[in-house]
Amino acid sequence: MGMSRDTQPVEAIIALGGNLGDVRKSFIGAREMLSVEPGISLLASSRLYRSAPMGPQDQADYLNAVVIIQCNLSALQLLHRMQAIELHFGRRRDGQRWGERTLDLDLIAYNDTQMQSPELTLPHPGMQERMFVLQPLCDIRPDWRHPITGKTAGEMLRQRIVAGEHPLGEGEIW
Ligand code: ATP
Ligand code: CA
Ligand code: CA
Repeated sequence: MGMSRDTQPVEAIIALGGNLGDVRKSFIGAREMLSVEPGISLLASSRLYRSAPMGPQDQADYLNAVVIIQCNLSALQLLHRMQAIELHFGRRRDGQRWGERTLDLDLIAYNDTQMQSPELTLPHPGMQERMFVLQPLCDIRPDWRHPITGKTAGEMLRQRIVAGEHPLGEGEIW
């Protein structure tokens, strides 16, 4: 476990995704809402990437980015704030799994906390397989270490590329 949030702010990694509406604008708004949230400050922001959809293929490409924040909220409090921000940007939860969405905010990691529940699993269980998480994370924290596997973000990304997966196109500033 990381240091107690009572004594020391926690570092959390958040992945942004979306493919409906003006996604870049929603990302900028979401990053702004996170950074003005009481108990949260923005530490780093990756470049902005484009990726092919996961799951249903009859939807537009996604934009993806990763931010790192420092926060005094518990992991669940943070998740609930993230869900409120998703709703603010028009997220609806009535579609199919991995269907199109305006804004998806996934909590990738909360210090080195490990937990598994339907509401919150940490680190996010899909992150190791997702170029659209690993590549932006490597912009800002390539030496971040997965608390279960012990691999760094850079190592995980390199392994996927060596295995034949294509890197995403160059990211842009947002
Ligand atoms: P995936 O989680 O595979 O990326 P998704 O983002 O499309 O899929 P959602 O519909 O956004 O999935 O979320 C489904 C549920 O996942 C949420 O209600 C939330 O409680 C739960 N959840 C579990 N772990 C996490 C996490 N680390 N970050 C965000 N949500 C999580
Ligand atoms: Ca997701
Ligand atoms: Ca999600």
